[in-house]
Amino acid sequence: MSIVNTVLGPRESSELGFTLSHEHILLSSAGIEDTFPEFIDKEFAIEEGIRQLSEAKAEGVDTIIDLSTMDLGRNVRVIEEVAKGSGVNVVVATGTWLDIPRSFAASSPDEIAPLYVREITTGIQGTGIKAGVIKVANEPEVSEAGEIILRAAARAHQRTNVPIYTHTMAKNRVGERQIEIFTDEGIDLNRVCIGHSNDSTDIGYLTGLMDKGAWLGLDRYPGQGVTWQERTEVLFKLIQAGYGTRMMLSHDWSVAATMMTKQRLTERPLTNPDNYLFITRNVLPMLTELGASQGQIDALMVDNPKHFWDGGS
Ligand SMILES: [Zn+2]
Repeated sequence: MSIVNTVLGPRESSELGFTLSHEHILLSSAGIEDTFPEFIDKEFAIEEGIRQLSEAKAEGVDTIIDLSTMDLGRNVRVIEEVAKGSGVNVVVATGTWLDIPRSFAASSPDEIAPLYVREITTGIQGTGIKAGVIKVANEPEVSEAGEIILRAAARAHQRTNVPIYTHTMAKNRVGERQIEIFTDEGIDLNRVCIGHSNDSTDIGYLTGLMDKGAWLGLDRYPGQGVTWQERTEVLFKLIQAGYGTRMMLSHDWSVAATMMTKQRLTERPLTNPDNYLFITRNVLPMLTELGASQGQIDALMVDNPKHFWDGGS
């Protein structure tokens, strides 16, 4: 058992319950809120976040991991309101996404790691709300600046024991390079989840990451490029091959996103009318139909997230 920081305070890992491992509520960019607040409809994000997550809670979702970082316009006060209003636990992240600040690119991992550590141990932006996970992102490959961020994340993990969750471009096998760097940093890959892995249907790539000891985040549903049914078929094959205790599922959903074009925002509800419930309403029934047991589904949704935080298996 371990303690997980959530936006409303510490929880025991056993209290996480049914967990979506990679979601968002409000997505924006660093500095917009301070400089151009009228660009962000926070009221909408809060109201719609509470509406969608209350619906999710009513259908069994207990916890979401909100992997928004500073460079994704993370707003922990908005997340706090949504958690209070919906009753869903939300774990918030420190770390860095793809918009790596140039100031970080000019720094060393040892200068950045303490910043992440402070967000885990003291709090985010003076709120006392503490991060429960470290996010890193590399796309299309691991750049020089990306490597600095990966090493900073590894060192912040070593000092706090908080797990690391990555964004990858799976078709470029970015997870392999991330693992090389984490291995070079000497961290336990059992505390690392390689995310966006279900953008790939390459079973060899996926099992290779898990064989090295990392978790897989199959965290894009319904996703683009690969259909949600293909994603689920690959998932079922991996369960049959014995990897059902090494994967977590999620949507990478958000209720408000200033970084998406109006067209994309209009189209999104057409491909996913179920928002945070797409997995519950579509993927899990399909898994059952393919032959997965309730125990195998509980592993994906309940046990594996708990073990990811505990460091158990
Ligand atoms: Zn995301």
